Order: sequence, then C-alpha cells, then structure tokens
Amino acid sequence: MSFVIFGPPGAGKGTYASILASRLRIAKISTGDMIREEIKRDMDLGKKIVDFVNKGKLVPDDIVIEIVKEAINKSSRKNGFILDGYPRTIEQARALDSIGKIDAVIQLGVPEQVIIARLSSRRICKKCGAVYNLRFLKPKKEGACDACGTDLYQREDDKPEVIRARLRVYESQTRPLIDYYKDKAEFINIECNSVDIPPETIVRRILRELQEKNLIG
Ligand code: AMP
Repeated sequence: MSFVIFGPPGAGKGTYASILASRLRIAKISTGDMIREEIKRDMDLGKKIVDFVNKGKLVPDDIVIEIVKEAINKSSRKNGFILDGYPRTIEQARALDSIGKIDAVIQLGVPEQVIIARLSSRRICKKCGAVYNLRFLKPKKEGACDACGTDLYQREDDKPEVIRARLRVYESQTRPLIDYYKDKAEFINIECNSVDIPPETIVRRILRELQEKNLIG
C-alpha cells in the first residue's frame, strides 16, 4: 500500500494520515515533521532550511527528495506508507516515481476560509508534535499536551502573513500535481467544507472509498 494524502496547508493531512497509518498499520511519512525535527536539532541541515520554512517557502527539492527516500527505505519493513506533505513539486513526484508506484492519491478539498481558521488557531506540542486547535480540538488543560503534558506552541509558519505565502506556493507549485497523477494513480476525493467535521468522520469516508476501490482489504 502506498498512498499520498494531498491538499492545501491546513487541510488536515497530518491528522488524517496519522489515524490512517495506525488503522492500516502502515508508516506515516511526513516531510513537514521530518523537516521540523531537523530544524530542532539545529545542525547544518536544519540551519540551511529553517529560513525557507519560516517564510512559507518550499525547502529545495534535492534536500527533501533525499530525506523522503531514506524514510521510504526504512518503511519497507511495514505494510506500506502514506506520504503527508510530499510530493509538493513535479520534480519531487518524478523522484517518487523512480522509487515505486503510488496506489492512490487521497485528495482533500477545503475552502480557503476553513484553511485560515484551522491554521491560525493550530497549536503543537513542543515534545511529541501532537496537533491541537484552540477552536475545534482543544487540549483538556489550556496550553498543555493531553498526551505528555508538555507546553504547546504556535508554528512560526502558522502566522497570518506566512499562511498567505504557503497558500500561494500551494497554488503555483503543488496543485499542478493533480494533473500529474491523473493517469498514474487512483483518486479518492474528499470534500471537507466545514471546520467542525470530526477527523474520525473524514477518516471513515476515506477508508470506505479505499475499500470500494479494492485498495485495502
Ligand atoms: P507541512 O507541515 O507539511 O505544512 O510543511 C511545513 C513546511 O515544511 C512547508 O511549508 C515547507 O517549508 C516545508 N516542507 C514540507 N514538506 C515539503 C516538501 N515536500 N517540499 C518542500 N518543502 C517542504
């Protein structure tokens, strides 16, 4: 099983990919998470990429492709993988083609006002990376992670001017991938046009469609 979860920033890719990965016992490969880990480590690579991320720009293809290849190789011991946040350019999609076939692209359609509402109130656990939302997915105790109790923070790139930059990048560099995959993979189209649809409901829809297309057992 090899899936790509695809959609604009704030579509919920990471949240749904986490649930799907644990249900299907496959690896979740999130380039955004891996990139944030690198930045946290503050070694050469992290220092080189931090500015791209904080300005809402894409990290150069050669760096991301290297990171993702390694992660896919490591995931080979699992049943497969779901890619979250990759590919984001045609170049990245071509690199992925050279590794193997993608079975399905799970495409999330989300209106812009939902994206902005989600991203501007998103908070992340400093330690385990769990995602909360001050409006729709509140932690039990204000400012602390339910799972590990660590402080929550707002991502630098979830600030309003950076959100706008990320949306522009999505439109110009990432959306064209829908055409790229048209004849290469099955498409599962999921519309999420309200902020308060519980993640479980969306995941159930995705699983149902994957089953209907015989992509999972
Ligand atoms: P995400 O968590 O997926 O929203 O990613 C956060 C940021 O990490 C993006 O805005 C980019 O700066 C960087 N990033 C994540 N995935 C990629 C990718 N596939 N290609 C280039 N940059 C990426």
